[in-house]
Amino acid sequence: MRLSGSCLCGEIGFELEGWVSPIQACHARRCRKATGALFAPEIAASAEAFRWIGDEGRIASYEAPVLDQPPAYRRNFCNRCGSPLPVVVEGAGMVILHAGILDDARGLTVFRHAFTGQKSEGYVIPDGAPQFEGQPPVPDLSDLLE
Ligand SMILES: [Zn+2]
Repeated sequence: MRLSGSCLCGEIGFELEGWVSPIQACHARRCRKATGALFAPEIAASAEAFRWIGDEGRIASYEAPVLDQPPAYRRNFCNRCGSPLPVVVEGAGMVILHAGILDDARGLTVFRHAFTGQKSEGYVIPDGAPQFEGQPPVPDLSDLLE
């Protein structure tokens, strides 16, 4: 699969090609804070052909304190407009990004919910996708989109 996206102001973007996971709706407290949304629409994708497009000087990072175990919770964002940007997970050959920054998210749907134990009070999950109270297992190969 081929994906591209950019921040709100358009100064920094990216493209990638390879395997892509469907959307994991993450309800963790930290992910809600980081996105300003009721859940983070997370996508994992191959980092093999990932590349930034535009002004890489716009990429800012924040690492939240480690809670239980490393790695630290890391967020990238545009230092001009604040849009969340992809994070390359070192050593995992994987990039994590949020579906909302994609130019075209056709074919990508929510396949599961993570950290529902921390979901926003009163928010009712509207679909029948599997729910995990904490961290779900690594997605099955059959879940990945080519
Ligand atoms: Zn921007």
